[in-house]
Amino acid sequence: MNENKFDVAIVGAGIVGLAIAYIAAQKGQKVAVFERHPRAVGASVRNFGLIWPVGQPAGPALDRALRSREVWLEIAGACGLWLKQNGSLHLAYHDDEMAVLRDFYRDAGSSGYGLRLLMPDEVPAHSPAVKTEGLKGALHSTTECTVSPRQAIPQLTEYLETALHVAFYFGTAVTHVEADCLSDFYNVWRAERIFICSGAEFETLYPRLFRESGITKCKLQMLRTAAQPEDWDLGASLCAGLTLLHYGSFAHLDSLNAVRERYEKENPDFARYGIHVLVSQNRPGEIILGDSHEYGWDVSPFDSEAINKLIIDYLGTFARFPDATVDETWHGVYPKLPGQSAFVVEAEPGVWIVNGLSGAGMTMSFGLAQELV
Ligand SMILES: Cc1cc2nc3c(=O)[nH]c(=O)nc-3n(C[C@H](O)[C@H](O)[C@H](O)COP(=O)(O)OP(=O)(O)OC[C@H]3O[C@@H](n4cnc5c(N)ncnc54)[C@H](O)[C@@H]3O)c2cc1C
Repeated sequence: MNENKFDVAIVGAGIVGLAIAYIAAQKGQKVAVFERHPRAVGASVRNFGLIWPVGQPAGPALDRALRSREVWLEIAGACGLWLKQNGSLHLAYHDDEMAVLRDFYRDAGSSGYGLRLLMPDEVPAHSPAVKTEGLKGALHSTTECTVSPRQAIPQLTEYLETALHVAFYFGTAVTHVEADCLSDFYNVWRAERIFICSGAEFETLYPRLFRESGITKCKLQMLRTAAQPEDWDLGASLCAGLTLLHYGSFAHLDSLNAVRERYEKENPDFARYGIHVLVSQNRPGEIILGDSHEYGWDVSPFDSEAINKLIIDYLGTFARFPDATVDETWHGVYPKLPGQSAFVVEAEPGVWIVNGLSGAGMTMSFGLAQELV
């Protein structure tokens, strides 16, 4: 019976569940993770692998992101997980974009971002991919890191299992939870605390709570190039003007309005499909590109070639690579609670739903887990 008894049980082996498992196991607690698929296949293996503090508003959100980053570095050191501290560049090709970068830099002060404003001729030193024609300048930030999600999630899982003795139950769909017990219809496990980290597959457990929360889903289309030749190195991860409209860190700036209005005039499809383009490079040297944002509970299972073309066309305004051949496309889905950075609620005594980290789960999960466990 004791084998079925834990201090902490977690439903979902994505980054949110693994982060809670890590923090709890480090505190000496007996932890089990239950995952309905034979391996994690959700948002946590479909993303850019970007740990992106610069996207978080200064204050508690940035603190959480920076604490998460420290934990990623600690884990990378402990288990040899590939993590590159490559920083990021926000590239400006219009005066309105440069104005936003200047305002952000001015307001950032000592909030912890690690920023520098660059003149156009200083930018190529940080990435050979940047198009310099028409470049007005860039914001360089040192805090961003990259992991290879398809390797990092299984590696972290293995580390939790072997070094921290977390029990994993893969291929186990949890169908029922109540205070201090959970079940997959065949077996029952007991745990003092239960965390439901079910990501976008939140229809099984506490469906009414999710329905009433106002949470929605967001579908993102992604692309991957071939591995770049001769160890070509992207340097810093890249983005440009459209990204300023996407992240909360810039949202308070009045200068953003001019950027928004211009893009709305130039191409209303950018706003319609939530296009902004991030560029990361994974361990095998492939370039990961995306993305789009389409919201609703009923996201389409089918991908749009027109959306991929919008991404590629916008990419072409600021970056180029030695080999731009697209080898693979896919989409991912994450849950988002509008206006909130996470959906955390005690569904019943000792049972916590931890969801809705939207597009920042890789950036925020460890910091959030520290606050919850
Ligand atoms: C395309 C894309 C790009 C992104 N890029 C980034 C990025 O670069 N940086 C960043 O910080 N964030 C990024 N994000 C966001 C980040 O990936 C998510 O916030 C994060 O992965 C969510 O993790 P999760 O553990 O909640 O969900 P998931 O990874 O989806 O895991 C949830 C797991 O729960 C399991 N599950 C559900 N119900 C049950 C049940 N009843 N029983 C057992 N198992 C169950 C599912 O099978 C699934 O494996 C991106 C997201 C997407 C989609």
